[in-house]
Amino acid sequence: MRLGNVELAIVSDGRWWLDAGGHFGVVPRVLWEPLIPVDERHRVPMALNCLLIRSDGKTILVDTGLGSKLTDKERDWYGLDSTVGLLQGFDELGVAPQDVDIVINTHLHSDHGGGNTIFDGEGRPRPTFPKAEYWVQRLEWVDALHPNERTIRTYLPQNLLPIEESGQLRLLNGETRVTEEVRCIITPGHTQAHQSVVIESNEQKAIYLGDLAPWKENIEKLAWTSAADVTPLENLETKRAIRPWLVEEQVLLLFEHDPRMAAGYLHLRGDRYEVEPVEV
Ligand SMILES: [Zn+2]
Repeated sequence: MRLGNVELAIVSDGRWWLDAGGHFGVVPRVLWEPLIPVDERHRVPMALNCLLIRSDGKTILVDTGLGSKLTDKERDWYGLDSTVGLLQGFDELGVAPQDVDIVINTHLHSDHGGGNTIFDGEGRPRPTFPKAEYWVQRLEWVDALHPNERTIRTYLPQNLLPIEESGQLRLLNGETRVTEEVRCIITPGHTQAHQSVVIESNEQKAIYLGDLAPWKENIEKLAWTSAADVTPLENLETKRAIRPWLVEEQVLLLFEHDPRMAAGYLHLRGDRYEVEPVEV
């Protein structure tokens, strides 16, 4: 896919299953049930759409999925299909892990930074992308290294410490330009320093939303926030603030977890915001 001078490709790390109550938070079941069937364990499918960007001669990867270090028990827990993954997707595109210059993590939950590292021959985690800098918001890094009882199962040291030990970690302080066409913006709420990635080239715009709005309903309806949001009311206000811009500039929305669509445009029809899906 092209956006002006920028090349974009969605690379999937597979599909996993998440407890429906976890995903839909305070939204009543009668409202979300018609959208998608749950499985026998009351879970809904979740995409793991990572984004590969070629801009200004740089190869940039945004988020790295759940990765390949899960135990069999964890794979079963996530319902993860092990036959697909980020690196298989790279293979198909003819991209090697050492080609990646920059990895951006929207945040460090295990479904976004799990592929940051990979086991070496001796079963030790090492950075998956040996030549890349890993760009992480400083506050997100601090939160990840000091988890509480609610976040400790998703901020996993094996996804984090190897990138610091290898000297590949770069901590960001708020909005940061990556190239002339790509920048990170702070979209707080899911985590305190959650970031989304904006791509702008030749008047065309796209945004990789991350968990600001993992599914289309999360941006259409302000109150639809995930149970995993650290500060859900802040997430709601972030969405309120950004939606007019998304509509006016016809920004292409890239969804990380929506199993039904990877991309779409937001429209305001009367007083309702609606996403129109786009094939990518
Ligand atoms: Zn997520």
